[in-house]
Amino acid sequence: MALLRVQNLKIHFPVRGGWFGRSTDVIKAVDKVSFDVEEGSTVGLVGESGSGKSTVARALLKLTPVTGGSVTYRDREILNLSEHDFRPLRKEMQMVFQDPIGSLNPRMTVEAILAEPQQIHFKDKDREERAEVSASLLRKVGLPEDSLQRYPHEFSGGQRQRIGIARALAVQPKFLICDEPVSALDVSVQAQILNLLKDLQEEFQLTLLFIAHDLAVVRHMSDRVVVMHHGKVVEQGDANELCENPRHDYTRRLLDAVPHLA
Ligand code: ADP
Ligand code: MG
Repeated sequence: MALLRVQNLKIHFPVRGGWFGRSTDVIKAVDKVSFDVEEGSTVGLVGESGSGKSTVARALLKLTPVTGGSVTYRDREILNLSEHDFRPLRKEMQMVFQDPIGSLNPRMTVEAILAEPQQIHFKDKDREERAEVSASLLRKVGLPEDSLQRYPHEFSGGQRQRIGIARALAVQPKFLICDEPVSALDVSVQAQILNLLKDLQEEFQLTLLFIAHDLAVVRHMSDRVVVMHHGKVVEQGDANELCENPRHDYTRRLLDAVPHLA
């Protein structure tokens, strides 16, 4: 059974234009997108900038209005759930963002950053218990223990992404959406973060939706790959098979664009 099933998902944004700013057109940011994510697997979502990947990710977390289609999680439709009913799933489905510095509050210590999601989702834990969880998270993501009292700007890009990953893990999610988690990092650091994600996936039995524009990175991470172009899925299948035997021109172009990993 698929843990997550996306069927015929459509997300259209109105474009204002013409006389008196009347709505004249729509951007089909996501157009009839369908894919499944099996429990414990990694599905890679790949496509160049603007192809609709982040919009899909946002829809899965109900962060953007959806024009049509269906998203089920454990066989339950989530698109029409109220915020109250979706709340337990907000804990189960966590996101790791591309830009850790933009997604980490610069005025919060790492301790506060890791405590915040726990305060929201584990109300019965006291401060000490939360601090214990935070300290253990730091070890899991390979940050020094004295990081807790420090601020995001005191860390390197790779370390900040480790903080972002620790924050996502703080509420014991089952499903992790990683939206270009290494795109802002130096190539030499990328592999470390990718391997960390793989190790954590195994340790916590996570299901991953891994988003990137680089097909080599996506192949390295994924069991299956979904290729998006202009809001549509042009091709999907087993990661190795799809990369060795691309059926669509656009996939071939993505493969040609791949910089070889150092
Ligand atoms: P990707 O993550 O693959 O780079 P996005 O999902 O961010 O692509 O964007 C897909 C398309 O949808 C782009 O053309 C983008 O400009 C458009 N888009 C995304 N969000 C909005 C929005 N809130 N309003 C209007 N257009 C949007
Ligand atoms: Mg994006």
